[in-house]
Amino acid sequence: MSAPRIEIDLDLVEHNTRVLVDRLAARDVRVLGVTKATLGSPGVAAAMLRGGAVGLGDSRVENLARLTDVDGAVPRTLIRSPMLSQAAHVVRTATASLNTEPAVIAALDAAATHAGLRHDVILMVELGDLREGIAVDDVAAAVQVVLESPSLRLRGLGANLACQNGVVPDDANMGVLHRLVDRTEAHHRLALDVVSSGNSANLDWALTTTRLDRTNELRLGEAILLGTEPLRRAPIDGLSTKAFALVGEVIEIADKPARPWGDQAQAAYGEPPARVGGGSRRQAIVALGRQDVDLDGLLPPPGMVVLGMSSDHLVLDVGDHPITVGDELRFRLGYGALVRAMTSPFVARAERQVLGTPDALGPVAGSARR
Ligand SMILES: *Cc1c(COP(=O)(O)O)cnc(C)c1O
Repeated sequence: MSAPRIEIDLDLVEHNTRVLVDRLAARDVRVLGVTKATLGSPGVAAAMLRGGAVGLGDSRVENLARLTDVDGAVPRTLIRSPMLSQAAHVVRTATASLNTEPAVIAALDAAATHAGLRHDVILMVELGDLREGIAVDDVAAAVQVVLESPSLRLRGLGANLACQNGVVPDDANMGVLHRLVDRTEAHHRLALDVVSSGNSANLDWALTTTRLDRTNELRLGEAILLGTEPLRRAPIDGLSTKAFALVGEVIEIADKPARPWGDQAQAAYGEPPARVGGGSRRQAIVALGRQDVDLDGLLPPPGMVVLGMSSDHLVLDVGDHPITVGDELRFRLGYGALVRAMTSPFVARAERQVLGTPDALGPVAGSARR
């Protein structure tokens, strides 16, 4: 198989989804599976749905378009505010979108009317992280705009924290959202289906708070895909952190001096890495570079240390591992590294699913699937 490639264990994606779906179902919260870190992979999306996600979300309309074959009946939500220039594409591809701008809402309504479609709108509220969101005082006016749009349906309210400024979801900021939901319903005498309170960073709060209140949906990407929570990047109990691996091939292996020689200035990406110690070390070059993956969040195999990475070369201290040219090495990925690898045209993809389909080739372990 070609390298570099990203290997995706779809059974683990399904497992992670199911564990989170079950934990949240006990609190009457549904899960929207967010595929954006996988470039809208239909295999990942299908695994999320098998695990119990009620719908799919992605930040790019191009990714959502890739998911149209997964299951026609499944709600598909564009989770970044639509571009004005893409309104027509959005209403044809997404069943719903998260919105903040009256001009965009008007364009969606016009596009949906033109196409003879209904489009669902979730209005996003600013709760302090200062990325997308309507100021609390302006939500009523935005609600009015949606309600007066003949081809739009107001599905609910939502919020997103912890992405721009790391603001932690808690009873205080979530309470602001919940009170807005109550007020909107009372004022317009309607019932909102969706209170989409946040992303993987909301998990701790949602699973422990005594004030879950109106929250009934979370949009989960990282927790499902990597088994980690984004606030502290800690592994989540009961989830696998091994659904994704990046595989690279060794193209040079040699004992080289631990320290460079000659005058030193900048390296390809700024200051050269500090080299410590003396003597020599066993050094491998892997055919992986910044064109393939982000160094931040790239975890080498145990016992190996990253010495540096330029556009096309990853240099590793491999210690006393018996490495030869042509060997493949497997790396674990953090969120940034995963996104970069999934979006690089140089990285192939190998999705593996054994348990999910009864007729799949390979050993079928009967116990892991309920
Ligand atoms: C990326 C994103 C999500 C999913 O975030 P994770 O941390 O991967 O769970 C949810 N909502 C919005 C608006 C997003 O941009």
